[in-house]
Amino acid sequence: MRQPRYRLRIPSLASYGSAVTVTRFAPSPNGPLHLGHAFSAIVAHDLAKERGGRFLLRIEDIDGARSRPELADAFRADLAWLGLEWEEVPPQSARLASYEAAARQLRETGLLYPCRCTRAEIASAASAKGPDGPVYPGTCRGACIAAGEPAAWRLDVAEAMRRMGPLTWTDALRGEQAARPDLAGDVVLVRKDADTPASYHLAATLDDAADGVTLVTRGLDLFAASHVHRLLQALLGLPVPVWHHHPLLIGADGAKLAKRRGSPSLTDRRAAGEDGRALADALRAHRFPAGISLAAGLDVGP
Ligand SMILES: [Zn+2]
Repeated sequence: MRQPRYRLRIPSLASYGSAVTVTRFAPSPNGPLHLGHAFSAIVAHDLAKERGGRFLLRIEDIDGARSRPELADAFRADLAWLGLEWEEVPPQSARLASYEAAARQLRETGLLYPCRCTRAEIASAASAKGPDGPVYPGTCRGACIAAGEPAAWRLDVAEAMRRMGPLTWTDALRGEQAARPDLAGDVVLVRKDADTPASYHLAATLDDAADGVTLVTRGLDLFAASHVHRLLQALLGLPVPVWHHHPLLIGADGAKLAKRRGSPSLTDRRAAGEDGRALADALRAHRFPAGISLAAGLDVGP
C-alpha cells in the first residue's frame, strides 16, 4: 500500500488515549459518490490500515428531505469496488437520542439560545464573512423569544470560549492549531426542523467520540469546522482526536468536485466496467483523470 505523498505529522498515539488508529468515512446519502469522495475514503482507509487500525463507514442520513437511504447500498458497493475494507457503525438516524441528550446538557449550561432568523435575514444583517458564508451577527443572543414556536438553537461561542479557556488541536499535516471557533460565529447546534435535531457540528462531534475515532480524516473544506468541534468536545467532555484535512480534488474550473458539477459518479464508473482497484491505485499515486487535480490550499470555491 502506498503512502500518501504529502507528509504526515501524527503525534504519539498515547496523546489521544488510544493504541489503535481509527478513521472514518462519513458520506451523506444525498447524491451519488464521485471521485472526490473516493479520494477521501482512500486516504482515511489507508491511514488506518497502514497503522493496523480500523476504518469505519458511517452513513450521515439525517439531512431530512434530501436524504435518500437507498443510496447507502450504492455507497457500500462503490467502496467494495475500490477494494476498501471497512466496519460499518450505526447511521446517524439511529443516534437521535444521543443528540437530544447532548443538546439538553448544553442547554442546561445556558450556552444555547433560540434563533428564528431566516437565511435572508442573516445575510442582510451579517457584517463578517466566515468559512461557510455570512457569519451570524448574534441577532437573537439575549433576546426573548416566545416559547413553543420552532427555533434553531445556537451556541454562544464567545461565552463558551470564555468558560473553556484557550484550546488547541492538532492537524496531522499542519501541526498544532489554536482553536478559533469564533471565526464561524454562533453556529447552529440544534436545527429548527424536528426531524433532524442536530446540526452537522453537533452530530459529527458526538458520533466521532461514540465511534472511538482517533484520527478525523476529511477534506480541507472542513478545516474551519474543526475549530468548532474542538470547542464542543471541551464543553461536552469528549475525547480529543487528531485531525487530518486532506487536500481537495478540483476540476478544471478550480472548483471542488461536487455532486452537482457533473463529474461521473463512482456508480456510473462501476456500471461502465471500469476497474475500481486500478482507479483507487491511481488516486493513491495522485494520477487523476484529465482536468482534475489536487487543490493547493484552503481557498477552494465557489
Ligand atoms: Zn436569530
